[in-house]
Amino acid sequence: MAAHHSSVPEKFAKALGFIEDMTTNADKVQEKVLAEILGRNADTEYLQRFNPGGATDRETFKSRVPVVTYEDLQPEIQRIANGDRSPILCSHPISEFLTSSGTSAGERKLMPTISEEMDRRQLLYSLLMPVMNLYVPGLDKGKALYFLFIKGETTTPGGLVARPVLTSYYKSTHFKTRPYDPYNVYTSPDEAILCSDSFQSMYTQMLCGLLMRHEVLRVGAVFASGLLRAIRFLQTHWRQLTHDISTGSLNPRITDPAIQERMAKILHPNTDLAEFITKECESENWERIIPRIWPNTKYLDVIVTGTMAQYIPLLDFYSGGLPQACTMYASSECYFGLNLKPMTKPAEVSYTIMPNMGYFEFIPHEPANPVELRRDSPPQLVDLADVEVGKEYELVVTTYSGLCRYRVGDILRVTGFHNSAPQFKFIRRKNVLLSIDADKTDESELQKAVENASALLRDFNTSVVEYTSYADTNTIPGHYVIYWELLVKDPANGPTREVLEECCRVMEESMNSVYRQCRVADNSVGPLEIRVVKNGTFEELMDYAISRGASINQYKAPRCVSFTPIVELLDARVLSAHFSPAPPHWTPERRV
Ligand code: AMP
Repeated sequence: MAAHHSSVPEKFAKALGFIEDMTTNADKVQEKVLAEILGRNADTEYLQRFNPGGATDRETFKSRVPVVTYEDLQPEIQRIANGDRSPILCSHPISEFLTSSGTSAGERKLMPTISEEMDRRQLLYSLLMPVMNLYVPGLDKGKALYFLFIKGETTTPGGLVARPVLTSYYKSTHFKTRPYDPYNVYTSPDEAILCSDSFQSMYTQMLCGLLMRHEVLRVGAVFASGLLRAIRFLQTHWRQLTHDISTGSLNPRITDPAIQERMAKILHPNTDLAEFITKECESENWERIIPRIWPNTKYLDVIVTGTMAQYIPLLDFYSGGLPQACTMYASSECYFGLNLKPMTKPAEVSYTIMPNMGYFEFIPHEPANPVELRRDSPPQLVDLADVEVGKEYELVVTTYSGLCRYRVGDILRVTGFHNSAPQFKFIRRKNVLLSIDADKTDESELQKAVENASALLRDFNTSVVEYTSYADTNTIPGHYVIYWELLVKDPANGPTREVLEECCRVMEESMNSVYRQCRVADNSVGPLEIRVVKNGTFEELMDYAISRGASINQYKAPRCVSFTPIVELLDARVLSAHFSPAPPHWTPERRV
């Protein structure tokens, strides 16, 4: 990855040099990061408990400090949320909570963070364009149509703000007062990005993207689902959008004064443009709509690794196969690293964890032989520089914000090394059964939802014999499909359509808060559907699995399916389909 471009700006060369330096000295940097974290947090209640002498070396740390999950830290985190300002996990004051899309007991996990972490995130962001510029030069000659959104925030009982990490970033002075950078000019005005009403924000961002269509060089959103939602938005709102463009007047539904003021400067009547967009959008055929409207697009900037891989075919369809660049790998707990070859095909994407971001350890992941994590005999975790190519690991982080040996829940496979820093393919997140957008539903959550809903069937002498689920992304937004095989004891008095619809609603009501937020506030997940299948369907499913080599003794009905022949088998046996008639309840407030 030599900086061989003669036109590489000085600051890009510096960034590339930094990446080389960090990855060449991965192990040394890791040792230093750990010593720094342990040194400054030595007097915290947490480290005093496990590492009272204040040792800062790896061996002592590994032998004394337990590997933990969110649930283990919940008492400490709750105290911080309730206003205890003493140094519990971290010696620096907690500036806010970042709300993860991972949940615990149905609510978003709360990750305490400190203000300097923002600089570390900013540093990682600043490395993305220097790397991209090696592969796609000239991005300073145009703009990025990037759909960015903020979400609601709440305040904890102790007065700290709790919000998603990207909301925290866009609302920060780092973002709002960022210096002009020709490589990172967005078509979206900050007023639109910072508008918390998702309709007004999306509408304005799309409108600006259309107005500046020739300047757009890349089109993106954080996740693939977000970009598809934007395309869907264009499909449903192009008439109003082209009306605004042709008349130069803003849709009256846009009531945010800051947006109105900004758009008054940007929006002028342009009938040619309105006609062009009308012509493209009124056609039945939306294939290649992205390059048709934004003809200078060089690539899509979207994450399509992990669960987002389900959207690759649809993105290919709308973009005519433009490259899909997955640039970084990050979480609320810690920003991990970046993709040094952003033009790689999604299936081959690997992320290089930057050793300066935190201290990283790895639990060898062998599904057949799980590592038991016992507090009295800590397992031997592998260090960043010591992971082996081809093996899978679960990621564990120790952060400047005070998480010590925290299990993130991601399974990664080592694909190679850049200098002495390993590169990882994202394999999956543990315990995620269903996911459409930011929502992640695990097996026990689905089980609970099915139990709650099937209680409604008792009055009809009916029970759910078997069930499975499917994340249906053929529609935008996608939605959960739950296949039910029912035992109806008295067919003359079986459950009515209304009852089955009510079952859909109860299932949605049982889902975690991220699911309900996606449904209610973001509209990024559609109404849940129950498909009732014929009696004997699940037996056929078993026969099919056995014919493909499954063991009869150990066979269990899968709780989620994605393999096309199986989905087709189920769909061919559907007796009736039912949709949730109303969105579930959701407010930004946490249910406690
Ligand atoms: P959150 O805590 O809501 O910020 O979500 C962080 C999680 O999103 C990570 O732990 C991963 O499971 C997932 N994630 C983040 N970046 C990527 C990526 N580039 N590819 C796949 N999954 C990702």
